[in-house]
Formats: sequence, C-alpha cells, structure tokens
Amino acid sequence: MRLSLGEGSVIELIEGDITRQSVDAIVNAANSSLMGGGGVDGAIHRAGGLEILEECRKIVVEHGSLPPGRAVSTTAGQLPAGFVIHTVGPVWHGGAHGEPQTLASCYRESLTIADKLHLTSIAFPSISTGVYGYPVAPAADIALKTVSITLPDLRHVREVRFVLFSNADFQTYSRALNSLAAQKPDRYRVDVIHAEINRAEPGPS
Ligand code: ADP
Repeated sequence: MRLSLGEGSVIELIEGDITRQSVDAIVNAANSSLMGGGGVDGAIHRAGGLEILEECRKIVVEHGSLPPGRAVSTTAGQLPAGFVIHTVGPVWHGGAHGEPQTLASCYRESLTIADKLHLTSIAFPSISTGVYGYPVAPAADIALKTVSITLPDLRHVREVRFVLFSNADFQTYSRALNSLAAQKPDRYRVDVIHAEINRAEPGPS
C-alpha cells in the first residue's frame, strides 16, 4: 500500500523483515545503551555484524547514552541498506508521560538525519510497539502523521517505507494510512499495490 504526497514523495507499507530492505537507511528501534537487545534491534545487529556495534560503542563513549526521541546514524555493516539510524522510542506508561511527543520526535529526527546524509529512501519498523509496549493503533497514527508532515520539507528523502513484521501490524498501519488519506483527499492518493510484489523484498541469494 502506498500513499503519494505529491512532488514524488511516497509513504509505503509492506509486511516483512527490515534487515532485508535495500534502501539508503533502515531505522533501528534501539535502547539508550545502543548495545543491542531483542526484537528488531537484535535482528539488525545479528544481520549487520559487529561493525555496527563498534560504531555504537564509540558514539556512547563520546556522547553518552542516547535519550528517548533522539537518533544517531552508523554504518549498516553487512546489511543491504547503506546506513542504520538508531533511535530510542518511548516506553509506554499509559500515554500521559510525553510518549506521543517522544515517538513523533523519533520519526522526525531519523528523517532529518537521513536528509542531512542526502539519502533518498528510508525504512522504519514500528518503533516502541514491541517490548516498549506502545499500543500499535495510536503509534501508527503518530508515525504516519509525523512522516507526512515532515517529508514535504525535506530536500532529499522521497521514499519512506514502513516494514511491519506481522500481518496484524500491517493491517493496523493500513487503516491509519487510509484515515490519513481521507483527511486530505484533494492532496493525498492511496494506491493498493499487488501484495505478492510488495509484502517482502527478497534477501541476497
Ligand atoms: P521497541 O523496544 O521499540 O518496542 P521491538 O524491537 O521490541 O522495539 O519492537 C518494535 C517492532 O519491531 C515490533 O512490532 C516487532 O514485531 C518489530 N520487529 C521485530 N523484528 C523485526 C524485523 N526483523 N523487521 C521489522 N520489524 C521487526
């Protein structure tokens, strides 16, 4: 499923594995230590190799741990992507502790870093909706709204892909994308792309 924002900018949803995406940058839902963990973080470090961890370690030594809402970039090591952008999502504590603002900041900062690196395409996982416990439906709304607001102001980034790991998450993000499009029917266009082509990208054979 794809939302065209005009001027060549698109938001795309696929069901798949972010470590297999051939985009300029993939985003990691990291923790503040940047030392790897479970979920998508573990998958990225496993597939990307030790080079990523070594760069993360240097960043923490030089700048300290990464606060929620912030983002940094490293090499992507062995991954097909060019860079990994690590961002720390908010842990869900009921929603009244700045979680929506912090989550929006993750998406905004990651996009800004990609743009400063002159990148065109970037893939996000569903930040904070795993171990950090953010409910998927409100997280999807924030993710898609923040990207749709930020993208038109960027000079280089044109393609933002959300890579949803489960079909349930893909369906939730699809509903959020449709309701975003319905708010601006004169500006946004949603295309349903053939599922077999876009559910997941093949990995290197
Ligand atoms: P957080 O700590 O920010 O909640 P998690 O990694 O626990 O991060 O979960 C974030 C989302 O990433 C979850 O929806 C999880 O299912 C998903 N996920 C896990 N592995 C992958 C992967 N390889 N590709 C894409 N998404 C993934």
